[in-house]
Amino acid sequence: MRVLRVFARLCGLGRAVVEDVDLGGDVVVVHARPKAKERDRCGRCGRRSPGYDRGEGRRRWRALDLGTIQAYVEAEAPRVRCRDHGVIVARVPWARHGAWHTRDVEDQAAWLATQCSKTAVTRLLRASWRGVGGILTRVVADRRAQVADPLEGLHRIGIDEVSYRRGQRYIMGVIDHDTGRLVWAADGRDSTILGEFFTLLGPERCQAIALVSCDQGSWIRRALADHCPDAVVCMDPFHVVKLATDALDEVRREVWRAARRRKDPAGARWLKGARWALWKAPERLTGRQQAKLAQIQATNRRLYRAYLLKEQLRVVFHEPSIDGAIEMLEAWIAWAQRSRLPSFVKLAATIRKDRQAIVATLTHRLSNARMEGANTTIRLIIRRAYGFKDASALIGLAMLTLGGLCPPLPGRSLT
Ligand SMILES: [Zn+2]
Repeated sequence: MRVLRVFARLCGLGRAVVEDVDLGGDVVVVHARPKAKERDRCGRCGRRSPGYDRGEGRRRWRALDLGTIQAYVEAEAPRVRCRDHGVIVARVPWARHGAWHTRDVEDQAAWLATQCSKTAVTRLLRASWRGVGGILTRVVADRRAQVADPLEGLHRIGIDEVSYRRGQRYIMGVIDHDTGRLVWAADGRDSTILGEFFTLLGPERCQAIALVSCDQGSWIRRALADHCPDAVVCMDPFHVVKLATDALDEVRREVWRAARRRKDPAGARWLKGARWALWKAPERLTGRQQAKLAQIQATNRRLYRAYLLKEQLRVVFHEPSIDGAIEMLEAWIAWAQRSRLPSFVKLAATIRKDRQAIVATLTHRLSNARMEGANTTIRLIIRRAYGFKDASALIGLAMLTLGGLCPPLPGRSLT
């Protein structure tokens, strides 16, 4: 009897009854059944329900390997008739509903997916990456129900979108500026989907939101007008600087095309290589990039002016004095308008139109680094999520990594 109890613990069966252990062959099979108290419960809600039929008979769940040997839990999987969920496979205490792995395996998979490379995870678990994706979706749904509601106590949020599948699709995310956590994410970007977030929040918690940072997307503004009309909208500095970087890139391309027209391939190639020197913050430039920049200054006034405009706009958001920053912004708009660089003249108009939201950003001092950090992490996650079946697995990985939903390793507590 004691031996059977040991196997119950090894396989994460908790208090379930171990009937027998099959040690023959290449795998260990532990035959189990839930305790009487835990039988005949709906697989979804756990409500005690009348039995319906035997379902598809006995089935197996992958358990954590025992040393180097693969292990399975085998049990009956009868169906019950739940008042809310109809005819449904009964709950087993060792696995989540619809899972082919025990809870321990799934928790371990979720933890590993946030920590290790794709190859490490799939090799260690002997599972496909696609299969891991399905696990993540389930773990996140389960953890959401267990941990404290991440939507509680939101005051300052950031709304952002990240493209995936080569810009064909979008993931939308909401970040809590105070904790830095991703609190919600969805597939797609429009005001209806964002509206679902605010509906989930409910009118009272919507009213508690004082400040929202976002880009200039009209769909975000529309949803905000509907649900949080009193919130102060801040233009996300990360996006403002990105607009300036795009404007600068347009000037660089225009100069590059002119060099090609002049049949100056060396010059064109040189300009192509100048991209990083122009993009990076000056304090992060390497020696070679600094030299490149100095050369641009000497040879191409137009491109250098565009560079200075980009840099100056970036500096606006680093100015410690609020009044000073606002003054710098005004000066920037005036300068850009006079710059005779069409892309910056256009940007000046855009920024002037959104001046109020940018001034709010400067006034409320939102952490740009936090948004940018989350953005970078989400991009890395998207790259790793390649191979998942659907967006819910990608969102699952993002919530596990950035949403504080990752479970502890089996048998350990969160540290
Ligand atoms: Zn139910």
